[in-house]
Amino acid sequence: SSTESSSTSFPLKKKIEINKGDTNDFECFIFYFDILLLLLMLLDMDLGVLLSSLIPSFQSVYVLVFYFVYLAVAGEILPGKVIRGALLSDGSQLRYRCNGLLALTLLVAILGICAKLGIVSPLVVADRGLELLSATFILCVLVTLALYITGRSSSDKSSSLKPHVSGNLVHDWWFGIQLNPQFLSIDLKFFFVRAGMMGWLLINLSILAKSVQDDSLSQSMILYQIFCALYILDYFVHEEYMTSTWDIIAERLGFMLVFGDLLWIPFTFSIQGWWLLHNNKVELTVPAIVANCLVFVIGYLVFRGANKQKHIFKKNPKTPIWGKPPVVVGGKLLASGYWGIARHCNYLGDLMLALSFSLPCGISSPVPYFYPIYLLILLIWRERRDEVRCAEKYKEIWAEYLRLVPWRILPYVY
Ligand code: NDP
Repeated sequence: SSTESSSTSFPLKKKIEINKGDTNDFECFIFYFDILLLLLMLLDMDLGVLLSSLIPSFQSVYVLVFYFVYLAVAGEILPGKVIRGALLSDGSQLRYRCNGLLALTLLVAILGICAKLGIVSPLVVADRGLELLSATFILCVLVTLALYITGRSSSDKSSSLKPHVSGNLVHDWWFGIQLNPQFLSIDLKFFFVRAGMMGWLLINLSILAKSVQDDSLSQSMILYQIFCALYILDYFVHEEYMTSTWDIIAERLGFMLVFGDLLWIPFTFSIQGWWLLHNNKVELTVPAIVANCLVFVIGYLVFRGANKQKHIFKKNPKTPIWGKPPVVVGGKLLASGYWGIARHCNYLGDLMLALSFSLPCGISSPVPYFYPIYLLILLIWRERRDEVRCAEKYKEIWAEYLRLVPWRILPYVY
């Protein structure tokens, strides 16, 4: 699932109609490939220990219930900017209340106070990681079966709730039946992405608490924690951008999205933290720390800067870029700023950020590099698909843009 917005220059209505068949096939392939990689990593553990830690206890179920109830209530009652979603094919528009940053801050404060008072253990997640993972997996299966059943029986004709049934049970369960299913008037798609991103931070904080308790807090752990926390907070500061991403606009809510949001993001993006908890022998030199910080800062500037430049350009193509009038191809494509350096500088920034989360772990094991490797494969493929789509959409304008900006992601390399 995408964690950032992609703004559009043509009506969103039209964007929704794009056929995603081949995309889904490859994304399924990436999913299976990554599951295989993850399984290989888990097989590194003692099988007996692994299997017994996978059985969910009541406590792991309580944790999940508390978490989801809190998110549902906070999402509904806390104030936040209300953003109109994409224009759907029936002319309707959903509204999203972007109060994720406030909900997250309040949750961390409540958990911090409860931990101080001894009501909650800050280690509850770190001690029960695999249990929570399997409980979340079971939840994903149950939720998506419920979505399948309610979706199939829906007689609603609106774009959001109209059932799309292919007749193939696995396909319909995997890709979903309805575009924007709701539960108690909560938009489930937006809710699950938020739960996944916040879950990633909460897992990290519990890992941090565990390393403090074990007296094993290392420079590597501190760096990893700071980088991820800044990335996640930045995501919530710009939460409204999420409302225009492909996942929110056009993907139906099935197992693929629910699993990606609730399990994939929090549990696999935090592998470096888990790894550091059990391998605290990484010694970082001062130059290595400085280099790691530089990769993070440059990655962030490129990632956020490129996405922001495109966002601003789509809203007003005359806005100066880096203090100069923008270079525009055919009135539609930005060819200056980051978009004049490479055609997908934003992917480069994201990859550098992913790398910066793993570098604190040193180079003794490939395990902490799971996230950057996964993202590299995903973004190279995504970039190729996007090129094909843009070439079809912009025709000679795109050819001119290719001539002006020959590099795809990394200048002079790719
Ligand atoms: P982009 O934000 O790069 O959007 C691509 C679209 O932008 C094109 O289809 C085209 O759309 C428009 N466009 C392309 N070039 C130009 C240009 N020169 N001028 C103006 N418009 C242009 O793609 P994504 O949505 O894939 O990615 C958004 C962010 O999300 C990225 O930063 C990416 O790294 C991140 N991401 C993160 C993932 C993760 O797991 N961490 C997964 C996927 C994405 P149009 O037809 O509207 O003009």
